Amino acid sequence: MSTIHKEESMVMQKTMIADHFEQLARAQQEGRKVVYTFVPGNLTELILAFDLLPVHPEINALQSGMRKISGDYIREAERLGHSEDVCTYVKCDVGMLMKGNLGPTGRPLPPPDLLLLSYTGCFTFMKWFEILRSHYDCPVIMIQVPYQGDGRITPEMTDYVSEQLRKELVPALEKLSGKRLDEERLRALLQRSRVAEENLVWALESAKRRPSPIDAYFGGVYYIGPIFTAFRGTQACVDYYALLRREIEARLEAGQGPLTPDGLLAEEKYRVVVEGPPNWTSFREFWKMFYDEGAVVVASSYTKVGGTYDRGFRHDPARPFASLAEYCLGCYTNLNLPDRVQMLTDYVRDYAADGFLINSIKSCNSFSAGQLLILREVERRTGKPGGFIESDLVDPRYFSGANIKNRLESYFQMIDLKRQEQYS
Ligand code: SF4
Repeated sequence: MSTIHKEESMVMQKTMIADHFEQLARAQQEGRKVVYTFVPGNLTELILAFDLLPVHPEINALQSGMRKISGDYIREAERLGHSEDVCTYVKCDVGMLMKGNLGPTGRPLPPPDLLLLSYTGCFTFMKWFEILRSHYDCPVIMIQVPYQGDGRITPEMTDYVSEQLRKELVPALEKLSGKRLDEERLRALLQRSRVAEENLVWALESAKRRPSPIDAYFGGVYYIGPIFTAFRGTQACVDYYALLRREIEARLEAGQGPLTPDGLLAEEKYRVVVEGPPNWTSFREFWKMFYDEGAVVVASSYTKVGGTYDRGFRHDPARPFASLAEYCLGCYTNLNLPDRVQMLTDYVRDYAADGFLINSIKSCNSFSAGQLLILREVERRTGKPGGFIESDLVDPRYFSGANIKNRLESYFQMIDLKRQEQYS
């Protein structure tokens, strides 16, 4: 069996995740309370300020996908009547629950003491928690987050969300934890978030260099892990991003490309921007289709699903509730279509990409709606070729390796042709 190359930061993250699942497994025994919540718009600093433990159901689903156990869970949910069209994260979660709620590491997951919905951009989130509410006897808090219909966040929108955080969420967390909010502690958590966010943005923007020292999609999903989940605001998160930065700096200095599971990429032939989440059940196979061709993803929309930090947003200890509100309002899937098109167009230009590729996810409406329009418009504005492939998040039945490989090969040939036309 060949060795799989891993960055030190990847190993560190793996340990952080394993520790977190271990804490969750012991939570009931140790009397710790648990909050189920979602990645986009998550309020990790507030949850941690009360010593509560967050659980992100979609992270469990994607981890189950990567560990190749999601297929059984999905079939179980379908057997119970959940339709084929339902988001497969939901079905994976429902199936996991029905089969004993063992987390992806095989350790038991505690039931929620609170269901916290702090993001409304995807209707599925609401329906998902309705299912969980019918199963668990616990309170639900739903924060109404206005959609960025006009492509901007107004002061009224920020006030509206931050008032809900202060008046509804904080009292609920105080009641659950039996502690009063310590605003100084919250500010300290937000300050650490800010430090980590600076390094994340630095890492993502390193892809502007040639060769890019990172893959901003396949590598990027690891890089966003700690900030998008249970660790934002912790010292471990700050340390992780400092380590990641040192690793990337070393590659930049050596003029090296990204580290893939098969070692350093020898030659960067194609630079592409990718829109849409990756497939998790065949993640390695999917990534290999890119690096075997010398293709590097230099920017992606998926790495903004839990925050558009590269557009300037930072958590702000001087404005704790306003910045938490702006965070909820600013996630990628809360952006309107013209804004998404502009963002992707900017990526193609700013990262000097050769093209733009959409991975359309069968069961994710939040990403898939309008993707053909996005494709046409980004092509028109940048003059770069667009490509379109289809797969699914965690349903192995919807990953057709041969088909995708075929399409990608044709797509890279199209980039070659465009280059020849340009220089002939
Ligand atoms: S539909 Fe898409 S955005 Fe919504 S929960 Fe499923 S994967 Fe997430």
